[in-house]
Amino acid sequence: MPAEPLLVIRDLKVAFRTERGTVRAVDGVSFDVEHGEVLGLVGESGSGKTQTLLSILGLILDPNAELSGSVRLGGEELVGMSPRRLRRIRGAGASMIFQDPMTALTPVNTVGAQIVEQIRAHSSLSAKTAREKALRLLAEVGIPDPVGVFPRFPHQLSGGMRQRVVIAMAVSCEPSLIVADEPTTALDVTVQAQILALLDRLRRDHGTGIVFVTHDLGVVSEIADKVAVMYAGRIVESGPVGDLFAAPRHPYTHGLFNSIPPLRGPRPPRLTGIPGLPPSNGAPVEGCAFAPRCVYAFAPCSTRPPLVPEGAQSVACFLPDAAKERFRREGEIAA
Ligand code: SF4
Repeated sequence: MPAEPLLVIRDLKVAFRTERGTVRAVDGVSFDVEHGEVLGLVGESGSGKTQTLLSILGLILDPNAELSGSVRLGGEELVGMSPRRLRRIRGAGASMIFQDPMTALTPVNTVGAQIVEQIRAHSSLSAKTAREKALRLLAEVGIPDPVGVFPRFPHQLSGGMRQRVVIAMAVSCEPSLIVADEPTTALDVTVQAQILALLDRLRRDHGTGIVFVTHDLGVVSEIADKVAVMYAGRIVESGPVGDLFAAPRHPYTHGLFNSIPPLRGPRPPRLTGIPGLPPSNGAPVEGCAFAPRCVYAFAPCSTRPPLVPEGAQSVACFLPDAAKERFRREGEIAA
């Protein structure tokens, strides 16, 4: 029997009880990540990407949150696991690179002490060896003077430096899985390239699986093996990065790619946006959540389209195959 993938998520739902009713942040998400594989999770703000990542590590602590479905890491079910056991899994089993380094770091401890603490909490290394490892990690994430930065407090570092410290902490225990929430957004392209190379080395040398959230489709094409596109808490399209970038089959994915300025040829006077707005936060959506913005919407779209395999990709859209093919070739469909 083939071994189970490193991470298996099935029908994950996250909802929050609010005064205005129940807000659905993640609405039935399923995906797998193999050892050494990178999944790029893309979509606009509010599409549920961050809540999906937080759910994986059991970091949705809001008492008004309702979480259901299954998150299996290395064959172990994390949903419903005791907080004590989850704390043991975080760090060495799975770790997260947070989007905002200001809130991810403790303001009253030096950055060096925080990295050493993380290493020693999940290993039997001595303080001296953990310090040496921390200095090595600071160098690996592109900090030019690790010895000088080690005794500094987070507020004494720039945003980009803090983000690199957060990344050093996340990779310090060589976890089986890293979930990264826009880890390179605050960094210039040179440091971004260093971070991507570091993550790539981790996955190659240690078989680390990575879920990488970003708005930057260029970064996805560089680091990811496969992509899942989220919209309104659901995955609307997924597949190997090469196939999906060459032939997006969902109108929303196509809209995302159309909004990227062309690298060659004349620049258009205006970028092509996707008209309209995503559904207001949490409003229940029975049919296709993209329907109000989709120029191809037709009668069947009033029910929820399932995510079904179409060649190498999976797509949640009722448009007939022939229409999607024409869409791919010509960039337009007469549905
Ligand atoms: Fe558009 Fe319908 Fe496809 Fe949704 S299911 S993306 S509304 S055509």
